[in-house]
Amino acid sequence: MAKDFLKETKDRYDVIVIGSGLAGLTSANVLAKQGYSVLLLEHHYQLGGMATWFKRRGGHIFDISLHGFPVGMIKSCRKYWTQEIAESIVQLKGIRFENPQFSLRTTFDRKDFTRLITEQFNIPFETVDAFFSASRKMNFFDDQQMTTGELFEKFFPGRSDVVRMLMEPIAYANGSTLEDPAITYGIVFSNFMSKGVFTFQGGTDALISKMREELIANGVDIRIRSLVEKIEVSPDRQVKAVHVNGKRIECGAVMSNANLKTTILKLVDEEHFDKDYLEETKAVRLNNSSCQVYIGLKPGEGFDDCGDLLFHSEHDGFDINAMLSMNVSSRTFSFYYPQTRPGSDRWLVVSSTNANYSDWAKLTEEEYQHEKEKLCEGTLDCLEQYVPDIREKLDWIEASTPRTFEHYTRHAQGASFGTKFEGLKVSQALPEHINGLFHAGSVGIIMSGWLGAVNYGVIVANELDKYLTPSSATV
Ligand SMILES: Cc1cc2nc3c(=O)[nH]c(=O)nc-3n(C[C@H](O)[C@H](O)[C@H](O)COP(=O)(O)OP(=O)(O)OC[C@H]3O[C@@H](n4cnc5c(N)ncnc54)[C@H](O)[C@@H]3O)c2cc1C
Repeated sequence: MAKDFLKETKDRYDVIVIGSGLAGLTSANVLAKQGYSVLLLEHHYQLGGMATWFKRRGGHIFDISLHGFPVGMIKSCRKYWTQEIAESIVQLKGIRFENPQFSLRTTFDRKDFTRLITEQFNIPFETVDAFFSASRKMNFFDDQQMTTGELFEKFFPGRSDVVRMLMEPIAYANGSTLEDPAITYGIVFSNFMSKGVFTFQGGTDALISKMREELIANGVDIRIRSLVEKIEVSPDRQVKAVHVNGKRIECGAVMSNANLKTTILKLVDEEHFDKDYLEETKAVRLNNSSCQVYIGLKPGEGFDDCGDLLFHSEHDGFDINAMLSMNVSSRTFSFYYPQTRPGSDRWLVVSSTNANYSDWAKLTEEEYQHEKEKLCEGTLDCLEQYVPDIREKLDWIEASTPRTFEHYTRHAQGASFGTKFEGLKVSQALPEHINGLFHAGSVGIIMSGWLGAVNYGVIVANELDKYLTPSSATV
């Protein structure tokens, strides 16, 4: 008989969290610590969503999205998780750019960027300083009309080299383009510039296992392999229950960490929403997806210091379409040294490229396998210039595509970073349309990435808390 992953769940919980991405995990933890009974439902066999990893024979452990996040993650993990988790966050100091316009290394913080832009690109200090100040001041309530491209044009007109240095890493980090609102760039870029790029020492598996322990200690009922099929809503637009693996479980509120559009357009019956809100949701653009190539070296084989993150491009300037093309000319290499997982003797490389879902979705199975092989071969050819003899040292190689991300996280079109900016408003407005239904997960560019997802999980958990226990009830 098939295993019942929902065995002995209660009939009712205060809160049901759908999805165990970083926003879902964090909101579950915050709410459980506030004393609510919380059920966390995850369709995959592993927690973490995009913050995940996989193991391959020969002892390789590959991280999917552990390339780098801003320093703010230390504070968020200390406040909303544990001191132990916060203490494992360490800086990555070797960020490299290799492209036809320049070749440089940086610690990726304001001081070093200012040095590079003034000394190597000959831009006056006052201009660079004014740009950093303008970017840092941007917040959600600012003018949302100015685009990132216009912001660059204001400070660095005609300087495609400077624009490339400022924009390429952020486009990789969250799929944003020069047409997106400048505030999305300003917020994300300034977060990184405050102190540089950080990682979790021990790997994603260690992080998620520590988070799991903490959730259990705080009383969260965690169920994997549990696919939510429906969020049940009463005729007066009140969340009642979720239907999961064919079982109905009642709740006071739902926090959905599933994709925003899926939550509204698939998990809830359309009749419960106003037409305008449905149209607004349908118009939300998903962010692009990614391809990755995972490369494991034979035990005992390594490479010289290649840096930690290497933005490689053969393209003449910053070009988002070239970055998304199946005809790959830009890649980000993450180099993982044995100290990434203390105690391990493995050297790994993960190559990431942004990708369009539609390019991969239309392929037949045969074409799909062929394109994946081509991607692996092209990646090795490119990597050879940084790791000579990579083919001899190679022990494992495989590729993932937008189809892989869609399969494992159920994000429509395998969107790696949720939705474009307009998704944030739709996500925030959800509880105004259905009482007790909240959404926390990658949206609006600024609420995506590890830090954005964790922080959005906290923000929405606090809203949910106000809903379940209005201040009038505690007076
Ligand atoms: C290739 C790649 C590289 C990245 N690199 C970085 C990086 O270096 N730094 C960084 O900060 N960010 C990076 N990101 C982005 C970052 O990983 C994500 O923005 C973040 O982890 C998303 O968290 P989330 O809370 O939105 O949930 P998600 O990770 O999207 O998880 C949602 C969860 O909900 C579950 N779910 C969905 N529907 C259902 C359902 N009906 N029932 C039950 N469960 C359901 C899914 O299985 C999934 O576990 C990367 C992403 C990708 C894809």
